[in-house]
Amino acid sequence: MSKVIITVAPTGAWPSKKDNPAIPFTPKEIAQDVHECYKAGAAVAHLHMRDDQGLGTMSLEKFQETVALIKEKCDIVLNLTTSGDLNATDESRMAHLAKLKPELGSYDCGTMNWNHNSVFYNTPSFLEKLGLAMRENDVKPEVEIFDAGMVYTSLYYLKQGVLTAPIHYQFVLGVPGGIGATVQNLVFLQNLIPPDSTWSALGVGKGHMPIFLAALALGGHVRVGMEDNIFIDKGVLAKSNAQFVERAVRIIKETNGSPATPAEARSILGLKKLGG
Ligand code: ZN
Repeated sequence: MSKVIITVAPTGAWPSKKDNPAIPFTPKEIAQDVHECYKAGAAVAHLHMRDDQGLGTMSLEKFQETVALIKEKCDIVLNLTTSGDLNATDESRMAHLAKLKPELGSYDCGTMNWNHNSVFYNTPSFLEKLGLAMRENDVKPEVEIFDAGMVYTSLYYLKQGVLTAPIHYQFVLGVPGGIGATVQNLVFLQNLIPPDSTWSALGVGKGHMPIFLAALALGGHVRVGMEDNIFIDKGVLAKSNAQFVERAVRIIKETNGSPATPAEARSILGLKKLGG
């Protein structure tokens, strides 16, 4: 039976409470939400923080408070974003890695036009510094791929020793400015990565279900949650992130897989705290 890692991305930096009032914003809300997702079957939580106005922030204090609250409740694997605010400095994008030493952190493998209205900077110097900071702090990069060129960039950094094998990829399809959320694109991207890699995928918005199902069919892992998609059905807002996790668990079981526990996810991804 294949073990599938369900990552939940409960918040992200973009959707507002007007888009979906159930999105968790404060450290307490995020921790409570993550705990519910853990109980429902999520093995990894990919976390962004929001400031008191609800905007994306790289605030070290918010990360610290949220991580401490989650660790009181459960042993879910934590994946902290390094891209929570388009205006953050390189340093503030990395400060929490040294302080909190999460098991995973996002590594966005290239600069792109974001949503046709801004620029998502991941400069060569930042990617070098980030790769080395992650290695120093024992944080495994989750290499996020928004377009095909980013896979080639990851192969370059692998060769340079900035990234180390086996790489774990997260294919993010359907962000305006990046590659579209189609099954053909997912197959194409998956064929570009080194064979020893692990990978997960998500489609943004209406691309969510097709990419979720294709990732399962191709033997990948999956990500769900309101960072990527606020609707549980066409025109129906999700009541909670746990609702997405529950649906993911149901589909994985019906397709003869089983959701990985946090300990199993640690083993699959080769994380430092094996089983703990
Ligand atoms: Zn994110």
